[in-house]
Amino acid sequence: MNVPFVDLKAQYQSIKPAIDTAIENVITETAFIGGKYVNQFEKDFQELYGVKHCISCANGTDSLYIIMKMLGISKGDEVITVANSWISSSETISQTGAIPVFIDIHKDYYSIDETLIEAKITANTKAIIPVHLQGQICAIDVIESICKKHNLFLIEDCAQSHLSEYNGIRAGLTGIAASFSFYPGKNLGAYGDAGCIITNDDALAEKCKMYARHGALIKHQHKIEGINSRLDGLQAAVLSAKLPHLIKWTKQRIAAAALYNEALNDIEEIVTPVVRPNSKHTYHLYVIRAKERDALAKHLKEVGIETAIHYPTPLPFMEAYQYLQHQPEDFPVSNQYKDEILSLPVFPEITQEQINYVAHQIKAFYSK
Ligand SMILES: *Cc1c(COP(=O)(O)O)cnc(C)c1O
Repeated sequence: MNVPFVDLKAQYQSIKPAIDTAIENVITETAFIGGKYVNQFEKDFQELYGVKHCISCANGTDSLYIIMKMLGISKGDEVITVANSWISSSETISQTGAIPVFIDIHKDYYSIDETLIEAKITANTKAIIPVHLQGQICAIDVIESICKKHNLFLIEDCAQSHLSEYNGIRAGLTGIAASFSFYPGKNLGAYGDAGCIITNDDALAEKCKMYARHGALIKHQHKIEGINSRLDGLQAAVLSAKLPHLIKWTKQRIAAAALYNEALNDIEEIVTPVVRPNSKHTYHLYVIRAKERDALAKHLKEVGIETAIHYPTPLPFMEAYQYLQHQPEDFPVSNQYKDEILSLPVFPEITQEQINYVAHQIKAFYSK
Protein backbone atom coordinates (compact mmCIF):
# COMPACT_ATOMS: atom_id res chain seq x y z
CA MET A 1 0.00 0.00 0.00
CA ASN A 2 1.14 3.55 -0.69
CA VAL A 3 0.43 6.36 1.73
CA PRO A 4 1.47 9.75 0.35
CA PHE A 5 2.23 12.56 2.81
CA VAL A 6 -0.60 14.62 1.33
CA ASP A 7 -2.86 13.72 -1.58
CA LEU A 8 -3.76 16.85 -3.51
CA LYS A 9 -4.89 14.75 -6.48
CA ALA A 10 -7.56 12.99 -4.39
CA GLN A 11 -8.85 16.39 -3.28
CA TYR A 12 -8.95 17.72 -6.83
CA GLN A 13 -10.87 14.62 -8.01
CA SER A 14 -13.44 15.13 -5.25
CA ILE A 15 -14.33 18.66 -6.42
CA LYS A 16 -13.15 18.60 -10.05
CA PRO A 17 -16.24 20.16 -11.70
CA ALA A 18 -16.23 23.18 -9.36
CA ILE A 19 -12.49 23.76 -9.78
CA ASP A 20 -12.58 23.35 -13.55
CA THR A 21 -15.50 25.77 -13.85
CA ALA A 22 -13.76 28.31 -11.61
CA ILE A 23 -10.57 28.20 -13.68
CA GLU A 24 -12.45 28.32 -16.97
CA ASN A 25 -14.43 31.37 -15.83
CA VAL A 26 -11.30 33.30 -14.92
CA ILE A 27 -9.70 32.52 -18.26
CA THR A 28 -12.84 33.21 -20.30
CA GLU A 29 -13.23 36.56 -18.57
CA THR A 30 -9.45 37.19 -18.52
CA ALA A 31 -9.88 38.24 -14.89
CA PHE A 32 -6.23 37.50 -14.14
CA ILE A 33 -5.30 40.28 -11.72
CA GLY A 34 -7.70 42.04 -9.37
CA GLY A 35 -11.38 42.12 -10.23
CA LYS A 36 -14.35 40.11 -9.17
CA TYR A 37 -12.79 36.77 -8.22
CA VAL A 38 -10.21 38.37 -5.95
CA ASN A 39 -12.86 40.60 -4.36
CA GLN A 40 -15.15 37.61 -3.93
CA PHE A 41 -12.54 35.49 -2.14
CA GLU A 42 -11.63 38.37 0.18
CA LYS A 43 -15.31 38.71 1.03
CA ASP A 44 -15.74 34.93 1.50
CA PHE A 45 -12.78 34.64 3.85
CA GLN A 46 -13.70 37.79 5.74
CA GLU A 47 -17.20 36.40 6.31
CA LEU A 48 -15.91 32.99 7.38
CA TYR A 49 -13.85 34.69 10.09
CA GLY A 50 -16.36 37.39 10.92
CA VAL A 51 -13.72 40.11 10.63
CA LYS A 52 -13.90 43.57 9.14
CA HIS A 53 -11.08 43.15 6.63
CA CYS A 54 -9.39 40.48 4.55
CA ILE A 55 -6.53 41.71 2.39
CA SER A 56 -5.33 39.12 -0.09
CA CYS A 57 -1.69 39.00 -1.12
CA ALA A 58 0.76 36.88 -3.05
CA ASN A 59 1.70 34.41 -0.29
CA GLY A 60 1.80 33.86 3.45
CA THR A 61 5.29 35.26 3.79
CA ASP A 62 4.39 38.62 2.27
CA SER A 63 1.35 38.86 4.53
CA LEU A 64 3.55 38.67 7.65
CA TYR A 65 6.02 41.18 6.23
CA ILE A 66 3.30 43.62 5.15
CA ILE A 67 1.65 43.59 8.58
CA MET A 68 4.93 44.31 10.39
CA LYS A 69 6.05 46.93 7.90
CA MET A 70 2.71 48.75 8.16
CA LEU A 71 2.84 48.63 11.96
CA GLY A 72 6.05 50.63 11.66
CA ILE A 73 8.43 47.89 12.76
CA SER A 74 11.90 48.77 11.54
CA LYS A 75 15.64 48.90 12.23
CA GLY A 76 16.55 48.86 15.90
CA ASP A 77 13.39 46.97 16.86
CA GLU A 78 13.14 43.43 18.14
CA VAL A 79 10.33 40.99 17.40
CA ILE A 80 9.80 37.81 19.37
CA THR A 81 8.92 34.54 17.64
CA VAL A 82 9.44 30.81 18.07
CA ALA A 83 12.55 28.70 17.51
CA ASN A 84 10.72 25.95 15.61
CA SER A 85 8.86 27.24 12.55
CA TRP A 86 9.14 27.77 8.84
CA ILE A 87 11.65 30.53 8.14
CA SER A 88 8.93 32.97 6.99
CA SER A 89 8.14 33.62 10.65
CA SER A 90 11.61 35.08 11.23
CA GLU A 91 12.92 36.20 7.83
CA THR A 92 10.06 38.68 7.52
CA ILE A 93 11.15 40.22 10.83
CA SER A 94 14.61 40.74 9.33
CA GLN A 95 13.07 42.12 6.12
CA THR A 96 11.68 45.04 8.11
CA GLY A 97 15.14 45.73 9.54
CA ALA A 98 14.24 44.39 12.99
CA ILE A 99 15.99 41.52 14.80
CA PRO A 100 14.25 38.17 15.39
CA VAL A 101 14.33 37.03 19.01
CA PHE A 102 13.70 33.31 19.31
CA ILE A 103 11.92 31.50 22.12
CA ASP A 104 12.05 27.76 22.78
CA ILE A 105 9.01 25.52 22.22
CA HIS A 106 6.63 24.07 24.79
CA LYS A 107 7.46 20.46 25.67
CA ASP A 108 3.91 19.19 25.02
CA TYR A 109 2.40 21.54 22.45
CA TYR A 110 5.47 22.21 20.26
CA SER A 111 4.70 25.91 19.79
CA ILE A 112 6.16 28.95 21.60
CA ASP A 113 6.62 28.39 25.36
CA GLU A 114 4.73 31.39 26.71
CA THR A 115 6.46 31.15 30.11
CA LEU A 116 9.79 32.09 28.52
CA ILE A 117 8.59 35.20 26.67
CA GLU A 118 8.77 37.92 29.31
CA ALA A 119 12.45 37.29 30.07
CA LYS A 120 13.26 38.18 26.45
CA ILE A 121 11.39 41.49 26.31
CA THR A 122 13.64 44.55 26.12
CA ALA A 123 13.08 48.27 25.56
CA ASN A 124 13.37 47.53 21.82
CA THR A 125 10.73 44.82 21.64
CA LYS A 126 7.83 45.86 19.41
CA ALA A 127 5.85 42.72 18.70
CA ILE A 128 5.30 39.04 19.35
CA ILE A 129 4.54 36.60 16.54
CA PRO A 130 3.18 33.36 17.93
CA VAL A 131 3.02 30.64 15.28
CA HIS A 132 0.09 28.27 15.71
CA LEU A 133 2.19 25.41 14.42
CA GLN A 134 0.81 22.08 13.13
CA GLY A 135 -2.79 23.31 13.60
CA GLN A 136 -2.46 23.70 17.35
CA ILE A 137 -3.07 27.16 18.81
CA CYS A 138 -0.55 28.75 21.21
CA ALA A 139 -1.49 29.95 24.73
CA ILE A 140 -2.96 32.99 23.03
CA ASP A 141 -4.68 34.36 26.17
CA VAL A 142 -1.40 34.45 28.10
CA ILE A 143 0.46 35.95 25.14
CA GLU A 144 -2.26 38.57 24.73
CA SER A 145 -1.84 39.62 28.38
CA ILE A 146 1.92 39.87 27.95
CA CYS A 147 1.42 42.06 24.86
CA LYS A 148 -1.01 44.33 26.72
CA LYS A 149 1.25 44.62 29.77
CA HIS A 150 4.31 45.56 27.67
CA ASN A 151 2.48 47.46 24.96
CA LEU A 152 3.49 45.13 22.14
CA PHE A 153 1.75 44.24 18.88
CA LEU A 154 0.38 40.71 18.72
CA ILE A 155 0.61 39.30 15.18
CA GLU A 156 -0.61 35.74 14.65
CA ASP A 157 1.01 33.45 12.10
CA CYS A 158 -1.94 31.26 11.09
CA ALA A 159 -0.31 29.62 8.07
CA GLN A 160 -0.90 26.19 9.65
CA SER A 161 -4.01 26.88 11.69
CA HIS A 162 -7.07 27.56 9.54
CA LEU A 163 -10.10 27.16 11.86
CA SER A 164 -8.05 26.21 14.96
CA GLU A 165 -9.57 27.48 18.20
CA TYR A 166 -8.88 28.22 21.83
CA ASN A 167 -11.77 28.69 24.25
CA GLY A 168 -14.03 28.86 21.21
CA ILE A 169 -12.10 31.74 19.64
CA ARG A 170 -10.45 31.08 16.31
CA ALA A 171 -6.74 31.46 15.78
CA GLY A 172 -6.18 34.82 14.13
CA LEU A 173 -8.87 36.75 15.97
CA THR A 174 -6.93 37.83 19.07
CA GLY A 175 -4.02 39.85 17.70
CA ILE A 176 -4.07 43.17 15.85
CA ALA A 177 -3.74 41.17 12.64
CA ALA A 178 -3.19 37.61 11.45
CA SER A 179 -1.39 36.16 8.48
CA PHE A 180 -2.63 33.15 6.48
CA SER A 181 -0.92 31.09 3.81
CA PHE A 182 -2.77 29.22 1.07
CA TYR A 183 0.28 27.35 -0.19
CA PRO A 184 -1.09 24.21 -1.94
CA GLY A 185 -0.35 21.86 0.97
CA LYS A 186 -1.90 24.08 3.66
CA ASN A 187 -5.31 23.19 5.11
CA LEU A 188 -6.83 25.61 2.60
CA GLY A 189 -4.53 25.49 -0.40
CA ALA A 190 -4.53 27.33 -3.71
CA TYR A 191 -3.08 25.94 -6.96
CA GLY A 192 -0.01 28.10 -6.59
CA ASP A 193 1.11 30.73 -4.08
CA ALA A 194 -1.46 32.75 -2.15
CA GLY A 195 -1.95 34.39 1.23
CA CYS A 196 -3.95 36.95 3.14
CA ILE A 197 -4.15 39.23 6.15
CA ILE A 198 -7.18 39.54 8.41
CA THR A 199 -7.72 42.41 10.82
CA ASN A 200 -10.43 44.48 12.48
CA ASP A 201 -8.24 47.58 12.43
CA ASP A 202 -9.50 49.91 9.65
CA ALA A 203 -6.38 52.04 9.42
CA LEU A 204 -4.03 49.06 9.37
CA ALA A 205 -6.18 47.31 6.74
CA GLU A 206 -6.02 50.31 4.45
CA LYS A 207 -2.26 50.63 4.84
CA CYS A 208 -1.66 46.93 4.19
CA LYS A 209 -3.82 46.98 1.08
CA MET A 210 -2.07 50.07 -0.23
CA TYR A 211 1.42 48.73 0.48
CA ALA A 212 0.68 45.38 -1.21
CA ARG A 213 -0.50 47.23 -4.34
CA HIS A 214 2.46 49.52 -5.07
CA GLY A 215 1.34 52.10 -2.52
CA ALA A 216 -1.77 53.01 -4.50
CA LEU A 217 -5.41 52.35 -3.59
CA ILE A 218 -6.45 54.27 -6.69
CA LYS A 219 -4.59 53.52 -9.89
CA HIS A 220 -1.67 55.90 -10.56
CA GLN A 221 -2.07 57.62 -7.18
CA HIS A 222 0.92 56.28 -5.27
CA LYS A 223 0.82 57.72 -1.75
CA ILE A 224 3.84 55.68 -0.74
CA GLU A 225 6.23 53.25 -2.37
CA GLY A 226 4.93 49.74 -1.84
CA ILE A 227 5.50 46.28 -3.20
CA ASN A 228 3.72 44.06 -5.70
CA SER A 229 2.00 41.39 -3.63
CA ARG A 230 -1.27 40.52 -5.32
CA LEU A 231 -3.41 37.40 -5.22
CA ASP A 232 -4.17 36.47 -8.80
CA GLY A 233 -7.65 35.74 -10.11
CA LEU A 234 -7.03 32.04 -10.80
CA GLN A 235 -5.89 31.41 -7.24
CA ALA A 236 -8.77 33.44 -5.83
CA ALA A 237 -11.34 31.47 -7.86
CA VAL A 238 -9.79 28.14 -6.80
CA LEU A 239 -9.82 29.25 -3.16
CA SER A 240 -13.46 30.35 -3.34
CA ALA A 241 -14.38 26.97 -4.86
CA LYS A 242 -12.56 25.15 -2.04
CA LEU A 243 -13.66 27.33 0.87
CA PRO A 244 -17.15 25.76 1.30
CA HIS A 245 -15.41 22.44 2.02
CA LEU A 246 -12.96 23.72 4.63
CA ILE A 247 -15.09 22.92 7.68
CA LYS A 248 -15.75 19.38 6.44
CA TRP A 249 -12.07 18.84 5.53
CA THR A 250 -11.05 20.06 8.97
CA LYS A 251 -13.42 17.57 10.63
CA GLN A 252 -11.94 14.82 8.47
CA ARG A 253 -8.41 15.76 9.64
CA ILE A 254 -9.55 15.68 13.26
CA ALA A 255 -11.20 12.29 12.69
CA ALA A 256 -8.02 10.97 11.05
CA ALA A 257 -5.99 12.15 14.06
CA ALA A 258 -8.38 10.36 16.42
CA LEU A 259 -7.89 7.13 14.44
CA TYR A 260 -4.12 7.56 14.62
CA ASN A 261 -4.31 8.21 18.38
CA GLU A 262 -6.22 5.00 18.87
CA ALA A 263 -4.10 2.89 16.56
CA LEU A 264 -0.80 4.18 18.01
CA ASN A 265 -1.93 4.20 21.60
CA ASP A 266 0.01 1.17 22.83
CA ILE A 267 3.37 1.86 21.20
CA GLU A 268 5.75 2.80 24.01
CA GLU A 269 8.49 4.11 21.73
CA ILE A 270 6.43 7.03 20.43
CA VAL A 271 4.55 10.03 21.83
CA THR A 272 1.35 11.06 20.03
CA PRO A 273 0.15 14.72 19.84
CA VAL A 274 -1.12 16.29 23.06
CA VAL A 275 -3.98 18.73 22.56
CA ARG A 276 -4.05 21.90 24.65
CA PRO A 277 -7.11 21.85 26.95
CA ASN A 278 -10.12 23.83 25.63
CA SER A 279 -8.64 24.04 22.17
CA LYS A 280 -9.35 22.69 18.69
CA HIS A 281 -6.30 21.20 16.97
CA THR A 282 -6.87 21.14 13.19
CA TYR A 283 -3.96 18.83 12.35
CA HIS A 284 -2.25 20.58 9.53
CA LEU A 285 0.36 18.10 10.69
CA TYR A 286 0.13 14.98 12.84
CA VAL A 287 3.48 14.99 14.62
CA ILE A 288 4.75 12.16 16.78
CA ARG A 289 8.02 11.92 18.71
CA ALA A 290 9.76 8.65 18.05
CA LYS A 291 12.72 6.64 19.33
CA GLU A 292 15.21 5.94 16.49
CA ARG A 293 13.32 8.48 14.39
CA ASP A 294 15.55 8.30 11.31
CA ALA A 295 15.51 4.51 11.17
CA LEU A 296 11.72 4.53 11.60
CA ALA A 297 11.31 7.05 8.77
CA LYS A 298 13.54 4.92 6.57
CA HIS A 299 11.51 1.80 7.32
CA LEU A 300 8.25 3.61 6.56
CA LYS A 301 9.64 4.89 3.28
CA GLU A 302 10.63 1.36 2.27
CA VAL A 303 7.09 0.12 2.82
CA GLY A 304 5.49 2.96 0.83
CA ILE A 305 4.71 5.50 3.57
CA GLU A 306 5.85 9.07 3.09
CA THR A 307 6.75 11.08 6.20
CA ALA A 308 8.36 14.48 6.79
CA ILE A 309 10.10 16.46 9.52
CA HIS A 310 8.83 19.88 10.57
CA TYR A 311 11.50 21.01 11.04
CA PRO A 312 14.88 19.23 10.91
CA THR A 313 16.81 22.32 12.08
CA PRO A 314 15.33 24.86 14.49
CA LEU A 315 15.60 28.39 13.09
CA PRO A 316 18.27 29.72 15.51
CA PHE A 317 20.64 26.94 14.40
CA MET A 318 20.32 27.75 10.69
CA GLU A 319 23.32 29.19 8.91
CA ALA A 320 21.20 32.27 8.20
CA TYR A 321 21.14 33.06 11.93
CA GLN A 322 24.75 32.19 12.76
CA TYR A 323 25.33 35.88 13.43
CA LEU A 324 23.08 35.64 16.49
CA GLN A 325 25.52 33.06 17.93
CA HIS A 326 22.93 30.83 19.54
CA GLN A 327 23.97 27.62 21.28
CA PRO A 328 21.96 24.37 21.52
CA GLU A 329 21.56 25.03 25.29
CA ASP A 330 19.64 28.23 24.48
CA PHE A 331 16.78 26.14 23.07
CA PRO A 332 16.97 22.78 24.88
CA VAL A 333 13.50 21.51 23.95
CA SER A 334 13.77 22.43 20.26
CA ASN A 335 17.25 20.97 20.22
CA GLN A 336 16.15 17.65 21.69
CA TYR A 337 12.92 17.34 19.67
CA LYS A 338 14.55 18.07 16.31
CA ASP A 339 15.86 14.47 16.38
CA GLU A 340 12.58 12.92 17.58
CA ILE A 341 9.73 14.60 15.70
CA LEU A 342 8.15 12.90 12.70
CA SER A 343 5.11 14.10 10.74
CA LEU A 344 2.90 11.20 9.61
CA PRO A 345 0.65 11.45 6.54
CA VAL A 346 -2.56 13.37 7.30
CA PHE A 347 -5.04 14.86 4.84
CA PRO A 348 -8.84 14.92 4.65
CA GLU A 349 -9.07 12.03 2.20
CA ILE A 350 -6.79 9.63 4.12
CA THR A 351 -8.57 6.31 4.69
CA GLN A 352 -8.87 4.17 7.79
CA GLU A 353 -6.95 1.41 5.94
CA GLN A 354 -4.10 3.80 5.24
CA ILE A 355 -3.97 4.89 8.89
CA ASN A 356 -4.06 1.30 10.10
CA TYR A 357 -1.30 0.42 7.68
CA VAL A 358 0.91 3.25 8.99
CA ALA A 359 0.25 2.15 12.59
CA HIS A 360 0.90 -1.48 11.69
CA GLN A 361 4.22 -0.59 10.08
CA ILE A 362 5.31 1.51 13.07
CA LYS A 363 4.55 -1.44 15.35
CA ALA A 364 6.39 -3.79 13.01
CA PHE A 365 9.45 -1.52 13.12
CA TYR A 366 9.67 -1.52 16.92
CA SER A 367 9.02 -5.23 17.32
CA LYS A 368 11.91 -6.17 15.03
C1 LIG B 1 3.69 28.11 5.02
C2 LIG B 1 4.10 28.99 6.13
C3 LIG B 1 4.34 30.37 5.96
C4 LIG B 1 4.49 31.03 4.64
O1 LIG B 1 3.61 30.80 3.70
P1 LIG B 1 3.92 30.93 2.13
O2 LIG B 1 2.57 31.08 1.56
O3 LIG B 1 4.61 29.67 1.72
O4 LIG B 1 4.77 32.13 1.92
C5 LIG B 1 4.56 31.14 7.07
N1 LIG B 1 4.59 30.61 8.30
C6 LIG B 1 4.40 29.29 8.51
C7 LIG B 1 4.42 28.76 9.90
C8 LIG B 1 4.16 28.43 7.44
O5 LIG B 1 3.97 27.13 7.66
